[in-house]
Amino acid sequence: MYILVNEGIIPRSSFSVDIEDRGYQFGDGIYEMVKVFEGVLFEWEAHLQRLFRSARELRITISMNKEELTEQVQRLIAIEDLRDGYVYIQVTRGVASRIHHFPEGVSSVLVAYTKEGKEERKEELAGIRVITTEDIRWQRVDIKSLNLLGNVLAKQKAVEAGAQEAVFVRDGMVTECSSSNIFGIKDGVCFTHPANHLILNGITRQVVIRLLEKVSLELEESPMKLEALYGMDEVFITNTGQEVGPVIEIDGRKVGNGDIGVYSRNLSIEFQRLIDSVVPS
Ligand code: PLP
Repeated sequence: MYILVNEGIIPRSSFSVDIEDRGYQFGDGIYEMVKVFEGVLFEWEAHLQRLFRSARELRITISMNKEELTEQVQRLIAIEDLRDGYVYIQVTRGVASRIHHFPEGVSSVLVAYTKEGKEERKEELAGIRVITTEDIRWQRVDIKSLNLLGNVLAKQKAVEAGAQEAVFVRDGMVTECSSSNIFGIKDGVCFTHPANHLILNGITRQVVIRLLEKVSLELEESPMKLEALYGMDEVFITNTGQEVGPVIEIDGRKVGNGDIGVYSRNLSIEFQRLIDSVVPS
């Protein structure tokens, strides 16, 4: 297994993290996870844009430009002979003595690695159970930062409750989930939180929004009250790993009649069609 470290690719066995890397000590960094199908990076441009946006928002300078990073990541995929799996990319502010403010004269550290394996989408096919929990995270979750403790605690709460995902509620309004975005469908209208500072604008969210027209759904980007979420005809979550994940139960209450809805199923089909259209046949 190999790791991309800045512009070099080295064996994992010779890679180490400096104790004073700010990503390690402060969570002072950003990341992306990109799916690979048949060796092709899915929605790469969108992930690249978001990575550079996150960096700009935190005033982290990435040592490569977008073309150079694309080249290096493709080189890593080729070296690993990755067919189906994902690439994880992380950029931290760099290595410096432990001070809170930005250190001077320090270069950022970019690392990336790949993971092979087609995910079995068992849960998505069977339907997902979720719980709701207060959104205790900071107010810049639009930045894909390494600070994920609020997300970790929420997911753990879901797992301990026998559920697969935790839905965040802030001031009575549904924002997103611990590692996914959430949509609700009522009378042919698809609701989701607007892409502002209170959610991560998921790449899968953006793809699904583009696909809504194909399944005859109208988009309404406005926050749902928790009570409204309970009353939706259909609910589904989206993220890079799970794509479209139909929700069948929220806090122990059935969504609709408790089965996967037709719109959610059709969206999954459209999503698969899109994947098929970008991979070489
Ligand atoms: N929201 C949060 C908090 C996430 O962690 C993620 C993915 O990790 C998403 C939404 C979905 O983003 P994407 O579709 O880009 O994977």
